[in-house]
Amino acid sequence: MKKRALISVSDKTGLVAFAKGIVAAGLEIISTGGTKKALDEAGVPSLAIEEVTGFPEMMDGRVKTLHPKIHGGLLGRRDLDSHMAAMRSHGITEIDLVVVNLYPFKETIEKPDVTEAEAIENIDIGGPSMLRSGAKNFASVAVVVDPADYELVLTELQAGGTTLGTRKYLAAKVFRHTAAYDALIAGYLTNVVGDSQPEKMTLTYELKQSLRYGENSHQQAAFYQDALPVSYSIAQAKQLHGKELSYNNIKDADAALRIAREFEAPTVVALKHMNPCGIGTGDTIEAAYDFAYAADPVSIFGGILVANRTIDLATAEKMHQLFLEIIIAPDFTEEAFAVLSKKKNLRLMTLDFSQKDQSTNNETVSVLGGLLVQEQDVVKEDPANWQVVTKRQPTKAELAAMAFAWKAVKHVKSNAIVLANEHQTVGIGAGQMNRVGSVKIAIDQAEAAEMMDGAVLASDAFFPMADSVEYAAAHGIKAIVQPGGSIKDQLSIEAADAAGIAMVFTDLRHFRH
Ligand code: 5GP
Repeated sequence: MKKRALISVSDKTGLVAFAKGIVAAGLEIISTGGTKKALDEAGVPSLAIEEVTGFPEMMDGRVKTLHPKIHGGLLGRRDLDSHMAAMRSHGITEIDLVVVNLYPFKETIEKPDVTEAEAIENIDIGGPSMLRSGAKNFASVAVVVDPADYELVLTELQAGGTTLGTRKYLAAKVFRHTAAYDALIAGYLTNVVGDSQPEKMTLTYELKQSLRYGENSHQQAAFYQDALPVSYSIAQAKQLHGKELSYNNIKDADAALRIAREFEAPTVVALKHMNPCGIGTGDTIEAAYDFAYAADPVSIFGGILVANRTIDLATAEKMHQLFLEIIIAPDFTEEAFAVLSKKKNLRLMTLDFSQKDQSTNNETVSVLGGLLVQEQDVVKEDPANWQVVTKRQPTKAELAAMAFAWKAVKHVKSNAIVLANEHQTVGIGAGQMNRVGSVKIAIDQAEAAEMMDGAVLASDAFFPMADSVEYAAAHGIKAIVQPGGSIKDQLSIEAADAAGIAMVFTDLRHFRH
């Protein structure tokens, strides 16, 4: 008796050539309705599923292959007499090759006007069942879920049969595929019922690319993206020029995009090693760049730039003076692109900034043996609600600078201190293990650049004691924004009052660890 292959595919790419190869290798094909039609039209002989099961496809295709004649033929162990006897007594024939790809659930739910009923009908039941049955029995059955594997399987069939190694590889691929498929369904239904909390999260990621290496060259790495793409994300940025993104590039670019998301006016973010080194806002993107550059002309070297307006020639010429890793913007003018693309390695990328407010989903970070999930730190804040806690009220200019500094400080690693004026950061103290340490670094930097004039100070969390305010006062800081909430708040307030500093409490903390 001929060996049997069952083919039931939604995506019919490469089907006919593969089926012809299968027949030429001496196998007999069983196929479901649409697949059979395609094979008939191409003149490839096959048995209809009902010829095997004795049942018609029914219930709009909900039940086609869910039958012991199919699943027995897939699951029966060829090495057990009892299984073989059961097959013989029930008229079940072995199926040695299964070729299935599933109803396009993802493509369906990605359609903007999709109805729930349409989504539900695109949950494939019989397909994953056959894949799982065949994959479990990889000792004897080859299961092909990806058209990219057609060639490998044909080559082996032509050489006499699939190898155990290949069948195992295909089985693992099948379970990865069905797991991801189910996760997507779980995620969709979870959202449909309105449960988007972190504890209901399903992991629905797809491999976007394997990376040359991870944080260091001895670490292997890969980049996964959300199965349902998030428009404003590094995963969706389009690379127009330059070297392939590295692991560190992706992390840094993500950090820079999160900062740029905070600003409406023309803004440039310069970032190094997960912290901003300069953020500038101006009337034009060139002015914004000037401010961001002047914020820290040393650290920007080798940095990543995100600009939220089209890069024009004048701005490009200035950027071209520097060694940079990446520039991301909504667009580049033709002349700007011509200038910047002279540097072979510089990565030039575009991204749809009009979608920047859409990605307020959960985020994850891994720990040894687990994963932490939280909502992103995206929250509407209104400086009008800030509480002035000192005798002196902030001036209008100080308030504007504080609003700017507050947006910046939430993206700096804790303990985070940002000094800024209305247009730019002028000193950034990041990641120190005590708060006053970050204050000192930020002030040192601003003093060295002679940019202390009119600078305000933002702190991502409260001051546990008065030392930070005292240090700031001694160096001429005139306004401070911080969450408040320490049991020693009063000491900081007194230190501020003594120095004529205006201080506001935001009542909201922005740790970033
Ligand atoms: P066709 O185009 O050949 O009519 O259908 C192929 C699709 O049907 C494949 O995506 C396959 O996964 C799916 N399929 C096969 N058997 C069943 C079944 O019994 N129930 C359901 N819901 N889908 C099936």
